[in-house]
Amino acid sequence: MIKKEYQCFRCGYKSKKSNVQNHFKRATICKREITCSYTDEEIKILNERQFIKEDYKKIKNGNIAEIINIETQNQTINNIQNQNNITNNITINIDKIVGFNDEWNIEGMSEKHRTNLLITNVMYTQLLTIILENEFNKNVIIQNKESTHGLIFKKINNEKQYQEISIDEIIHESMIKLHKQLFTIYDSHLSTNDNYNNDKSFDEHVLKQKNLTSQKFDEFLNDKKIKNNVKDVIQKIYIENKDDAILNQKIIMKNKDNFENGY
Ligand SMILES: [Zn+2]
Repeated sequence: MIKKEYQCFRCGYKSKKSNVQNHFKRATICKREITCSYTDEEIKILNERQFIKEDYKKIKNGNIAEIINIETQNQTINNIQNQNNITNNITINIDKIVGFNDEWNIEGMSEKHRTNLLITNVMYTQLLTIILENEFNKNVIIQNKESTHGLIFKKINNEKQYQEISIDEIIHESMIKLHKQLFTIYDSHLSTNDNYNNDKSFDEHVLKQKNLTSQKFDEFLNDKKIKNNVKDVIQKIYIENKDDAILNQKIIMKNKDNFENGY
């Protein structure tokens, strides 16, 4: 008789039942493997359900979606609907997903958000929060606050791929991009002839805002304590957006499969 093989749907670890069950009892959470495109909730379901005989068969036959869909029907119906909608429009949407190696898309940002950014002194976190309201900008997956590495979605020419890089690198690159985009927003305000421009004191405020933004960026680069604070805040924002980022990963992986199968 062939021994049944079980697995961890997060890290990909495969072994016999007792080993896999021990793996789940570990105090520290294992690392998401690069090809894993399940949300935490889906991982939990699959990790548990594989020990049920009928479900084990379904999983081995590749009917994973069936198990996830049944279990999550009530809790995350919106997610699944979203997923289906997005999957239907796969060819349109997949190209809209921004690579982390490119700038985030801020074209559709509301006037209200833009104005807020001219005023707030937490401009970096506020801009990132606004950016991640756009589903196509969600290109970073960070598991939790203990993670030392995360996944980024990368686009080079037509090649679309996920890559594992250190959290430090993710935060550093994010800050560079945010800094640049904040300046674009300030400069765009200063060069536009709208009502605000009659108000010279507001322009002066925006100039001060530019200085403050640069000052904060320098502090981030040079002050270790500030760097760590920034890291915590930004990491937290990415973690909050993790499930949607995984949804994008699912779509990209699915599209890749279709492509590789010649559809
Ligand atoms: Zn694992």
